[in-house]
Formats: sequence, C-alpha cells, structure tokens
Amino acid sequence: MRTPLIAGNWKAHTRADTARALCRALRELIDGVDGVEKVVCPPFVYLTTAKSVLDGSAIRLGAQDVHWQDDVAATGEVGPAMLAELVEYVIIGHSERRANFGDTDEVVNRKVKAALGAGLRPIMCVGETLREREADRTEEVLVRQLRGGLKEVDLPDGFVIAYEPVWAIGTGIAATGNQANEAIGLIRREVAAMCGPEKGESVRILYGGSVDPGNIAEFMAQPEVDCALVGGASLNADSFSARARRPWPSNWPAASTARSSGPTRGRCTAAWTSAPRSRRRRSGRRRRTT
Ligand code: PEP
Repeated sequence: MRTPLIAGNWKAHTRADTARALCRALRELIDGVDGVEKVVCPPFVYLTTAKSVLDGSAIRLGAQDVHWQDDVAATGEVGPAMLAELVEYVIIGHSERRANFGDTDEVVNRKVKAALGAGLRPIMCVGETLREREADRTEEVLVRQLRGGLKEVDLPDGFVIAYEPVWAIGTGIAATGNQANEAIGLIRREVAAMCGPEKGESVRILYGGSVDPGNIAEFMAQPEVDCALVGGASLNADSFSARARRPWPSNWPAASTARSSGPTRGRCTAAWTSAPRSRRRRSGRRRRTT
C-alpha cells in the first residue's frame, strides 16, 4: 500500500523570519493530519531554522538539491552526508535545475545514487516541455529521463517520483486529471519494466504543476496519482494546508493495494528481467543499460 505524499518546494523564497513563521503555521495546521506524508523543502540556509520548529512534528524536512559527492572541492555545493544530518528528503532533477543549472539525466542519476547512499529519500522530478508535448514526444522524454535517472539504481520501496510537466509549473495552467493519470501510469509501467513489477507498484508518483485547492481533488481522484509536489502555493500556510487536509476519496488509493512482499531490492536497468540475479550472471549475458 502506498502512502500519499505532499511536498512543498519553497524554491528561493522566504527569509529567516518568514521561513520560521511558515513552519510554525504548518505545524499548527497539518501536523495532526493523518494518512498523508507531509514534506517541506526550504532553501538550504533555512533548513536549520525549519528543523528547529518542525522537530518532534510529523512534518518532514527536505532539501531542494544535493551534490553527488561529499568532501570534495565543489564550491557552493552541499554534499549528501551533510544533508542527511538535517533532512530526510531531497528534490532531484527539478526542471528548473535541468533547464538552468545543467542537470542532465546523468547528473540526476549521480545525485539519486549519492542521496540513497547517504540514507536520503530522493523526490526525482521528470516532465516534458510544451514543445515536446505538442510534438507528441511526452512518452519518449519521460522514458529517457527515467532510464537515465534510475540507471543502475537500487530502488527502495516507496521511492518518490514527481511528474511535473514543465508547461504547468508556475503557469497557473495545470494538467488535467486525465493527462496526469496517463503520464503517471506510463511512468509506473516504465519503472516496473526497468526495476521489476513490485517496484512499479510501490513507487509513489506525485503530480506537480499549478496544483491549487480547487484542483487537487481532481488529481487525487486519479488512480495513479499519489498526491502532489507544490511550488509557489506552498509558501502560503493556509493554501498548502488545504491541499494536505483534503479528505482523500473513499476508494483511495484505488491502485495502491500493491501486493506487498516486504522490502525488495531491484537494480534498475533498461529492461528488467525476472530471472534471479545470480542466474543472470551465470548466463553470461550482458545487461542492457541504455
Ligand atoms: C514546482 O516548481 O515544483 C511546482 C510544482 O510549481 P507550481 O506549483 O508553482 O506550479
């Protein structure tokens, strides 16, 4: 069974006092809301401020990015071991990082591996641009980002992916419930194909892009959608809380009754094969890792 997760990405907003006030308000408003995991991702410099307010609450802390190495000459970067001292989650591969800071699929892959290695929980973002959608390339782009980002990753159960169509981020033009469900279904099938069927069932896939209190119900009514990554509107405590507090549809999670067989490990490859790993090795066949 997948636990829904709602995360707020504060981006480069707030100051120390507003970050503190926002955390206090969220603690008041949603700490006691059950059935959904709640995560806030402030800027690096306010993580300790947020932590001091949220410690002891059920609201988890996340960072917005991570470098793939610790203790290296990487001016301005923050390594996974440092982050793991402060936060549980980390956003990786957000479209703003892909578009403006050179985060290729390979970089995303390094960051995902490093984060998992340090005990962090990545929220790996994927999504197509408007031009790609209009050219009917959504599937191709999502598959490329998944194969690149998850290449040779030992995927833990409950791994989090955010489907964020770039054209919906910060534009006020959200995808429709159907569009989100279709893309997230595709992502789930690709994760199953790459990492094994149990992983496809257990991966939590959020929708992100202009989610507001008026449309979150539409997303949550979709069987494939495991809640949301919220950007700009997560800066408003009432608005973020309204999303987190939404009563989940009574049949939810419709597609989430995964046949849980306990923690499983599965290294993701371009083409998953159900043959046990030892047999695969003995067969001498080389794995495809496109
Ligand atoms: C985001 O940047 O991750 C996001 C979803 O932004 P917004 O909710 O503002 O569209």
